[in-house]
Amino acid sequence: MILENSRYQLGGVDLLEVANEFGTPVYVYDADTIADKYQQINTAFSAVKLRIKFACKALSNLSVLRYMKSLGAGLDVVSIQEAMLGVKAGFEPKEIFFSPNGVSFDEICQGVGLGLAINIDNISILEQFGHKYGNTVPCSIRLNPHIVAGGNAHIQTGHIDSKFGISIYQMRHLTRVVASDNIKVVGLHLHTGSDILDASVFTKGADILFEAAKNFKDLEFVDFGSGFKVPYKEDDAVTDMAELGKELTPRFKTFCKSYGRELELWFEPGKYIVSEAGVFLVRTNVVKQTMATVFVGVESGQNHLTRPMYYNAYHEIVNISNPEGTKRVYTVVGYICETDTFGWDRKLNEVREGDILAFKNAGAYGFTMSNNYNSRLRPAEVFIYKGKAHLIRKHEPFDDLLRNQVEIKL
Ligand SMILES: *Cc1c(COP(=O)(O)O)cnc(C)c1O
Repeated sequence: MILENSRYQLGGVDLLEVANEFGTPVYVYDADTIADKYQQINTAFSAVKLRIKFACKALSNLSVLRYMKSLGAGLDVVSIQEAMLGVKAGFEPKEIFFSPNGVSFDEICQGVGLGLAINIDNISILEQFGHKYGNTVPCSIRLNPHIVAGGNAHIQTGHIDSKFGISIYQMRHLTRVVASDNIKVVGLHLHTGSDILDASVFTKGADILFEAAKNFKDLEFVDFGSGFKVPYKEDDAVTDMAELGKELTPRFKTFCKSYGRELELWFEPGKYIVSEAGVFLVRTNVVKQTMATVFVGVESGQNHLTRPMYYNAYHEIVNISNPEGTKRVYTVVGYICETDTFGWDRKLNEVREGDILAFKNAGAYGFTMSNNYNSRLRPAEVFIYKGKAHLIRKHEPFDDLLRNQVEIKL
């Protein structure tokens, strides 16, 4: 989002016009930013056989998925429903990496039925998989390397108490299970959480995967998951992708040489590719002075953008209706009957009732985490593609709240 001639724009499109044309609340995504982030990873790892599997739980609108496909991405999915969306968006099933956690064996079998690339994250399921498929269906294995990455504890997955993955300390058990059913393990995977800044977390993880790889003879890829850090505030540190490429590439090449085969290197970024590409536009309902602060109450809430309340995440807020207004301090809250605070003590250009506020970093885990609490309807989505704004999801109609309800006679 940039300010040009006193108007905020995204992808060359005027955001106030988007708000007026499509109505608020509305999520707006910029295709060019997505392409740019995608290419940054590609460029940083141009010396290896790289595969980028977009983590579609971050943003799963069909039009965006089609766009990812056009860029050359595969897909990382965590449920059979996400996989079905991926197929609908035109991905070949084998380009879709099915990496769920805690699902039934039946759901894994559905994934096999669809022809997905299967990633298994516990020994119980792996045993059932081996008994049923032997070496006829390849799979990969999610390992827990027990690296704690620091950062936001809510979104770390590699620690000792984590429910994700098979511990590297269970390697002997794991290799026994693999050997007993002759399971064809073609990939090793780890994903240590989100918002990881330090390249050393990835290189440590890499060293652990490379060591673990010695136990598997059929590998075709190693997958370092994701967790790349994006900026939420102006001077936030971010994952230096070029630096990461420089650190990881020689290590990976050395590993491939000793393994005796050139493997693929996979990443599964969600946030890195789409977070900064999105803004969420809402209208101001009330400006309410209390003894403690001035509240700005908006036509939205934790039902539409959950991250501030769920993860204590920071989203920068901009009053796009009044770019030159005097800066004042506000507390921005939602309309849900809970304490749904988007941000305390934000310096915004003077907010008047009716003004449109933009939440930044809204491309990832925004719409996909929205819900119908308080019987509120979900927002629309707009995609800015080739300099034009396209509606890619309508405002949810009231009928959707009724659609699956079965009324009984009382
Ligand atoms: C959520 C998730 C990702 C994406 O994480 P980001 O922080 O959005 O990049 C990647 N892989 C797996 C297995 C995930 O669950």
